[in-house]
Amino acid sequence: MNHLGIIGAGPAGLLLALLRARRGDQVQVFERRGDPRQGSAEAGRSINLALAARGLRALRAAGVLDALNDQLVPMRGRQLHAADGAQQFAAYGQAEHEHIWSVSRSLLTRRLTEIAAATPGITLHFNHRCEGLDDSGLPLLRQAQDPVFSAPLVNRWVAADGAGSQVRQALQSLGLTQVDEQFIEHDYKELDIPPGTDLPREALHIWPRGGFMLIALPNADGSFTATLFLAREGTVSFAALRDEASVLAFFAAEFADVSALIPGLAQQFLAHPQGRLGTVRTATWHSGEQLLLLGDAAHAMVPFHGQGMNCAFEDCRILDELLSDGQPGSYARFTAVRKPDADAIAQMALENHAEMSDAVLNPRFQLQRQLALEWERRLPGRFIPRYSMVTFHDEIRYSVALQRGRIQQQLLADMTVPDASGALPALTDLNWAAWQERVLASLAPL
Ligand code: FAD
Repeated sequence: MNHLGIIGAGPAGLLLALLRARRGDQVQVFERRGDPRQGSAEAGRSINLALAARGLRALRAAGVLDALNDQLVPMRGRQLHAADGAQQFAAYGQAEHEHIWSVSRSLLTRRLTEIAAATPGITLHFNHRCEGLDDSGLPLLRQAQDPVFSAPLVNRWVAADGAGSQVRQALQSLGLTQVDEQFIEHDYKELDIPPGTDLPREALHIWPRGGFMLIALPNADGSFTATLFLAREGTVSFAALRDEASVLAFFAAEFADVSALIPGLAQQFLAHPQGRLGTVRTATWHSGEQLLLLGDAAHAMVPFHGQGMNCAFEDCRILDELLSDGQPGSYARFTAVRKPDADAIAQMALENHAEMSDAVLNPRFQLQRQLALEWERRLPGRFIPRYSMVTFHDEIRYSVALQRGRIQQQLLADMTVPDASGALPALTDLNWAAWQERVLASLAPL
């Protein structure tokens, strides 16, 4: 039997604890914060997350998906809000099940905490902070002001302590890994839209404005959580929005239709925290077979593909399988299998930033999107839009989605070259038979 220690009771730490307890492990989870069952979410830090196929599969494997169902709101596509107020809906996929789900991060964590606390084999330790690693490379923990201690009994550790991972930093300072952290120039800030608006509920709303955007995801209680992604510095930036007048003028000019939906807009804006976004690439995720980084601790990414938590949950499912297959070297094998996929989704998440904030309103992009869906209808299992591979096809690795996506994007670009007058080709004019030959030659069956 394993005595597994997990640092961090975030989504990944809790899900891994549940998966391993089902296999008979004794699991201890150490979380620096207080028990979420005893407090409410911090204002402006609610974050609702888009849950997709990879996350759903892992939750199902842990037997907890049914317990979350009442908190999940389907989002069937993007509701685009142009600057002139015009709206347009673009479905995410074409099969009935191809939608994503909005879930409140705090409710999700709370529900997983409740289930973990009631699961035999799991012990949760709140207000326990990991402060680094001891001389044998094991986590040092501290409860409140007490002296640091190394947890007894635990023979394997997983650090799921998030993007700012203390454990990752300790491994780096011991020379056991290299870390590359790249922050992007855009920060984010959340704003609450209370229930009672006429925003269509089952959609992810986007107000793309070129260099910046606002999005809003629905909550189970009828409210929405909006997030502004905007440059940190510059003429149009968070730095330029320092008082009520500048905030109100900015929203009136860029998001006039939303302003009225956010009570106390300027006060909320000035009170809520401004978060940074970036990519963390870690060269080595494990220290022998005693310690492993997982989830954001190993590979944080920007949120523009809505996959950070989905990827972390997929990590948990795959690690659970590797720990149970009877083969040695689970942590080394996990790193070898997952790192190419984590690198791939981090890259696609960066690319999606431009797509969401800008390209979605571009006519050539829209034509390519129509074409991609048409090719999927004509050649199912051969041509699958990249967004769908990432979001709805948990059997396709992220690295495969990235590689096939590049080939597909080149094909779509070649099919949509504008003529000398700048006009885009009509779908009816396309030589489908000739293009089909090229598609089949370019993409091996999946
Ligand atoms: P975390 O959620 O960061 O949890 C880490 C836990 O460890 C926390 O509870 C923390 O308190 C604890 N901890 C930290 N340090 C210590 C320590 N030293 N000792 C003990 N405990 C510690 N993902 C999606 O899939 N879909 C989305 O739509 C999406 N949207 C996002 C939007 C935004 C604005 C952001 C910022 C992220 C978004 N993500 C999304 C990403 C998602 O939030 C993360 O990928 C996910 O939370 C990672 O889970 P985790 O458990 O690895 O880390």
